[in-house]
Amino acid sequence: MRFHGRVIRSGVPLPPPAGPIRLAMLYQDGIEAMRESACLYGQCLRGMAQTWGLDLSKMPSWEVTNEFIQRHNLQSVKDQQAFLIEAWGGAERRLRHEINQRMHTPSFLVEASALRDDALGKRRYEEMAKALHLRHGGRAPVDPWRDLERAARVALARAVDAFNFLEDTELADVAHQHSHKIAALIGGVFGCDIQYIEGAYWDTCPISLMHRRCGMSVGFTATRRCSLCGDDIDECEHLLGVLYEVRIQRSADGTCSACGRHSCSHVEGEIVSIYPHAVMGDLQVHEISLVSRPRDPLARFTRVEFDPQDLARSLGGEPDGREIRCYRCLHPCEGFATLEE
Ligand SMILES: [Zn+2]
Ligand SMILES: [Zn+2]
Ligand SMILES: [Zn+2]
Ligand SMILES: [Zn+2]
Repeated sequence: MRFHGRVIRSGVPLPPPAGPIRLAMLYQDGIEAMRESACLYGQCLRGMAQTWGLDLSKMPSWEVTNEFIQRHNLQSVKDQQAFLIEAWGGAERRLRHEINQRMHTPSFLVEASALRDDALGKRRYEEMAKALHLRHGGRAPVDPWRDLERAARVALARAVDAFNFLEDTELADVAHQHSHKIAALIGGVFGCDIQYIEGAYWDTCPISLMHRRCGMSVGFTATRRCSLCGDDIDECEHLLGVLYEVRIQRSADGTCSACGRHSCSHVEGEIVSIYPHAVMGDLQVHEISLVSRPRDPLARFTRVEFDPQDLARSLGGEPDGREIRCYRCLHPCEGFATLEE
């Protein structure tokens, strides 16, 4: 099995391997991700309803389709899929129709700006636009379909992040259900594709990848260098715990010689008293192992190759490089796959 993944995030504080500080950081990062996700998901639904006139009460949802599947006892994947494609297909067509119609009437600009006109809506819209690097206002080109789609896809990515941070807390199930809801909306309306890259089919479905409960743990060595002189911290003349006077300098990339940060309040040329500390140098990655609880909770697979035989079996024939849509994100949850450790 081939896969691609992220081994470690750089540039952000990583939680320690264990202990109460780790838990506190996981809560903090998880709730932040959840908040962003919920905000974007809300914006997306609100845009569909208020700007594009979609009747949300007629729109399918993951909960409603799950309930239908259970009530009608649709057991085979084939029966479920036929029902789900039918249910969501209608929603996709309605949204396309509404957008096309409103885009081609002169009153469109009035309606499209409705969201931005009430004060609360305006602030939220700007927040979302900023989060998505959208241009808005002025004469920016309008592509409402893409804007809604991007809001939904970022909402899902952040929901999955939230679950990865919160999996060992009582908020795990909230993040799990929330992720499924957004994934069904995306799979149903905007589409989730099985990607064909480098002559193979890859699973890139965010909700499917989220259910593979393992991540990457990196083994690496780095030298601990002295922040004052750059030599090995165990061999140089500087003693930890002793204050030294230094003149602040910034390296070419802006790193401060006193604290090692890029942005800090230290002024170049100023003399300050500081303690030496260890900085990492000569980073070398030796091995990457698969673990159930990676040190960096977001060190996860980004795509996993499908077994060609399994894929052909489930499709009833060789796909031969043609486009395949993933409908798994519409189905009820099938549980998590965990590592056998
Ligand atoms: Zn999918
Ligand atoms: Zn030193
Ligand atoms: Zn500094
Ligand atoms: Zn699930």
